[in-house]
Amino acid sequence: MSTRAAQFQATVRRREPLSDHLVRLVLDGLDGFTSTGVPDEWVGLVVPGQFQSRYYTVRDFTGGELTLDVVVHDVGLVTEWAMRDCVGDTVTITEAKSSFAPPAGATWLMLVGDLTAMPAMARIVETRPDLTTYVIAEVPDDLAGYLPEGPDVTWLSPPSHGQSALAEVVEGIEWPAGEGYFWMAGESAQMRAIRKHLMREVGLPTSHYDVMGYWRATAGRQPRAVDPGPLWRAGKAAGKSDEQIWAEYDAAREASDG
Ligand SMILES: Cc1cc2nc3c(=O)[nH]c(=O)nc-3n(C[C@H](O)[C@H](O)[C@H](O)COP(=O)(O)OP(=O)(O)OC[C@H]3O[C@@H](n4cnc5c(N)ncnc54)[C@H](O)[C@@H]3O)c2cc1C
Repeated sequence: MSTRAAQFQATVRRREPLSDHLVRLVLDGLDGFTSTGVPDEWVGLVVPGQFQSRYYTVRDFTGGELTLDVVVHDVGLVTEWAMRDCVGDTVTITEAKSSFAPPAGATWLMLVGDLTAMPAMARIVETRPDLTTYVIAEVPDDLAGYLPEGPDVTWLSPPSHGQSALAEVVEGIEWPAGEGYFWMAGESAQMRAIRKHLMREVGLPTSHYDVMGYWRATAGRQPRAVDPGPLWRAGKAAGKSDEQIWAEYDAAREASDG
């Protein structure tokens, strides 16, 4: 099985700041690109002058236009590009992949994430109004209007710049009764502890949660960042669960840092 992802050229048509740390980019071009239709789907993005990709959630793909909401933080390949006027730039996008897969019997959804998770959480809320949804969002900006109406939302501020307290927050969750699905994305260091907690204390089967490390707090750039695309395709081909693949991705990233 090929581990090369299909690639598409796209042009940035619009750039709209949504808050101090979130910028919306709308791209077109993308001949042959298709959406998976799964609300947490993501693509790889390679910006001009670079060869490494970074991963971004498809906030929307309608009428041939792809919307990505990009967190602008201190330093990084994409963040520095997205901070300036990038309208008219040509970028490369890789094929969409996805992870969100609630069990058929789920009646509730618990979504937890930081700013990087907001695009996926907004799209999940939008596409699953049939489920009773709780959102816990740890964000530095006022994004009250960003999520569609409907869910029970708890807004939290990060404890300090670049830090997250989501692991502790998850330990304090009062879980709804009945069958449901837990989806979480944010800084990777928190994720191992959370997976253990979900398995041991909460007793959720692995088919009932997805916990994803979307970025890794390190000093400086991440020149050896691990590409999740090949791991994802190889894992799927080997019949592994999403959870197993994400755990392997986190382990590979830790190894690549060492
Ligand atoms: C499946 C998936 C979906 C994702 N969806 C989105 C999305 O929709 N929107 C989005 O903005 N991000 C999303 N991310 C996260 C994004 O890919 C990373 O944040 C990425 O590292 C940003 O690339 P960069 O070039 O700006 O910084 P890099 O060059 O990768 O990193 C440079 C430095 O910045 C730090 N850093 C990286 N990201 C952050 C951050 N978010 N906050 C603070 N410091 C950071 C790193 O620790 C490093 O020190 C997603 C990741 C995955 C795996």
